[in-house]
Amino acid sequence: MPSARYDAVVIGSGPNGLAAAIVLAEAGWSVIVYEAEPTYGGGARSAELTLPGFVHDLCSAVHPLALSSPFFRKLPLSRYGLKWIQPPVPLAHPLDDGSAVLLERSFEKTGAHLAEDGKAYRRLLGSAVRNWEHLISDLLGPARLPSDPVGLLIFALNAFRSSRKLAESSFKTARARALFGGLAAHSMLPLEYPMTAAFGVVLGAAGHAVGWPFPAGGAQKIADALVLHLRTLGGEIATQRRIESLDDLPNARAILCDVTPRQLLKIGADRLPARFRRSLESYRYGMGAFKVDWALSGPIPWKSEACNLAGTVHLGGTLEEIALSERVAWEGSVCEKPFVLISQPSLFDPARAPGGKHTAWAYCHVPHNSPQDMTERIETQIERFAPGFRDRVLSRTIHSPADLEQHNANLVGGDINGGAATPGQFFFRPTARLYSTPVKGLYLCSASTPPGGGVHGMCGYFAARRVLKDLG
Ligand SMILES: Cc1cc2nc3c(=O)[nH]c(=O)nc-3n(C[C@H](O)[C@H](O)[C@H](O)COP(=O)(O)OP(=O)(O)OC[C@H]3O[C@@H](n4cnc5c(N)ncnc54)[C@H](O)[C@@H]3O)c2cc1C
Repeated sequence: MPSARYDAVVIGSGPNGLAAAIVLAEAGWSVIVYEAEPTYGGGARSAELTLPGFVHDLCSAVHPLALSSPFFRKLPLSRYGLKWIQPPVPLAHPLDDGSAVLLERSFEKTGAHLAEDGKAYRRLLGSAVRNWEHLISDLLGPARLPSDPVGLLIFALNAFRSSRKLAESSFKTARARALFGGLAAHSMLPLEYPMTAAFGVVLGAAGHAVGWPFPAGGAQKIADALVLHLRTLGGEIATQRRIESLDDLPNARAILCDVTPRQLLKIGADRLPARFRRSLESYRYGMGAFKVDWALSGPIPWKSEACNLAGTVHLGGTLEEIALSERVAWEGSVCEKPFVLISQPSLFDPARAPGGKHTAWAYCHVPHNSPQDMTERIETQIERFAPGFRDRVLSRTIHSPADLEQHNANLVGGDINGGAATPGQFFFRPTARLYSTPVKGLYLCSASTPPGGGVHGMCGYFAARRVLKDLG
């Protein structure tokens, strides 16, 4: 390790680690980021996972939260090559009758598609769509007086509910219920759980307010732009430097850990007081993801042509089926027909595949650390809505929960959110101390702190602000 002294050391170069480093570098601090893997970016990385010329996202693919992030929006990321692509339709949800429910950019059009449920849809999401800027800064922001108390109250009235109950009580048709169920399933919790409705409302409203875009060239472009900006500010980054102990680090005023509680326990070892260790040990990780990436000879042959307009497609059929898939995975088993999330970026971004060819990215939720191979079940779900899909597969790469954790230690048991977003861990994670620890100068800045999972950098932003307040 270098003997140089830095004001701050950041362990991990995910979006939150990079955000934290940027905030400190902007404040004039000397900063170095140590990344365990050969490439930086954590959950925002891309690589040729299947065949030469086919660019796949290792983790995150769809970025309404990055585009909404109050911190990222202040950074000059477009100057460093970040360009957003908006598919014409954010989300399609095909059904067995060959049709698809579309979440369009236009709130009005989406309501019109939902026919007799259009009014209920507009009632459920209207306030969040209209007041998006305030709502998202209140939700991604720290606990403080909200900028729009009325909007936040309207949101909270629905958000605290079970998404399944909310869908069943708000909507009459299977189409609208299925659409909302698919959105809420991003919570990675049983849809019967309280607060899962929050995910449905936020992701649905985001589709209308900012779209569900992806970066031209892949998620890596987000990390590349953050790193270029950090370097411009004088920050340094070193890859292939796995930190096993605080003793591995050069002297620094602050150490910010873009890691989850389990790794902090190891890195902090006996410097962490027993009580804090026990709190970290009781932190709950969530379900895992089983992911497949394909190189395809052509686009996915959807039965419903409208699916070709969408960047993201939710495969799960009805609300009841989706709810079953999520509940079964949470309870430790796998479903014959899992809820599958698909992204098909090459339809809109030629940089992802050689001419005429395509890529697809998909995952389903499985029990924490499940060894079950879900490839067959995922592809059967795709065939259900796109017969002939398998004939277009040129190559596939699978990542079980253990494989995911292998290439990013933060994905404990395949948990993509740095810990379950249960009601107890929604606001206060991983402990009531949030970013700080009982060890002076030692902080957490990963998705295991508020506001949690997703590529938005806000955990890193708030952790670094906390550091500046404490030590600046
Ligand atoms: C399959 C999948 C799909 C996803 N889809 C989306 C999506 O579409 N949209 C979205 O917004 N989010 C998505 N996410 C979630 C998103 O990627 C994460 O929430 C986000 O990356 C968290 O950022 P982070 O900085 O907290 O951690 P990470 O991005 O996980 O970064 C942590 C970094 O720390 C490094 N590290 C860990 N331990 C050490 C150590 N001891 N020493 C040095 N370095 C270390 C890791 O190698 C990693 O680079 C997805 C995640 C996965 C896995």
